[in-house]
Amino acid sequence: MTFLITAGPTREAIDPVRYISNRSSGKMGYAIAEAALNAGHDVILVSGPVNLPPPRNSKFISVSTSDEMFDAVHQYANSSDICVLCAAVADYKPAQVSQVKIKKSADEFSIELVRTRDILKSLGDQPAHKFLLVGFAAETDELEANARKKLREKNCDIIVGNDARVAMESDENELLILFRDGETKRISRAPKKNLACELVKIFSNSQQKSLTKKM
Ligand code: C5P
Repeated sequence: MTFLITAGPTREAIDPVRYISNRSSGKMGYAIAEAALNAGHDVILVSGPVNLPPPRNSKFISVSTSDEMFDAVHQYANSSDICVLCAAVADYKPAQVSQVKIKKSADEFSIELVRTRDILKSLGDQPAHKFLLVGFAAETDELEANARKKLREKNCDIIVGNDARVAMESDENELLILFRDGETKRISRAPKKNLACELVKIFSNSQQKSLTKKM
């Protein structure tokens, strides 16, 4: 099967030297990419800027902004079997990008921000798509309720929920996995590499099951 995976943060430019970003390390997405490759799958990894080497044998697409990530994902989604959107895409970007470095002047300064496009939702909204769609929910509170809301609103097949305080920049994570049919699975704290192997098995079984149902 072909896995399309997004990982890492995005950077939204303010001017030529400044940007808005977040602390995502990309470790979970890269671990899923490695686990999928080890299980014999093809992997297309669309990655924001991280300090990790591209997995050997993957098709690696390096992006910076949410718009670049959106375009890369849409280029490959329909030829993929499983889309796993792990990236911590910025929710907002500057309304205007200054072409020159902004100079300091007044004591206070504000930037107008506008929403970025939701890549996961844009895939969920595609009618009759054939790929299995997996999203992530990193929350600091009300994990199950927020993850369930995302599953519904973004029209995913699976949402993998985790506590952002446990997951961010860490080599470990604990997961709450919600399926479209209402099934729930919990995986207790473990190295991201081990969790990634479990997730790859769960995703490929789910895609296999849905293909069998459609036949
Ligand atoms: O809404 P929230 O950002 O919490 O949703 C998280 C999920 O949505 C993750 O799977 C993330 O990769 C995806 N996402 C996206 N594009 C955005 C925002 C989030 O694909 N602009």
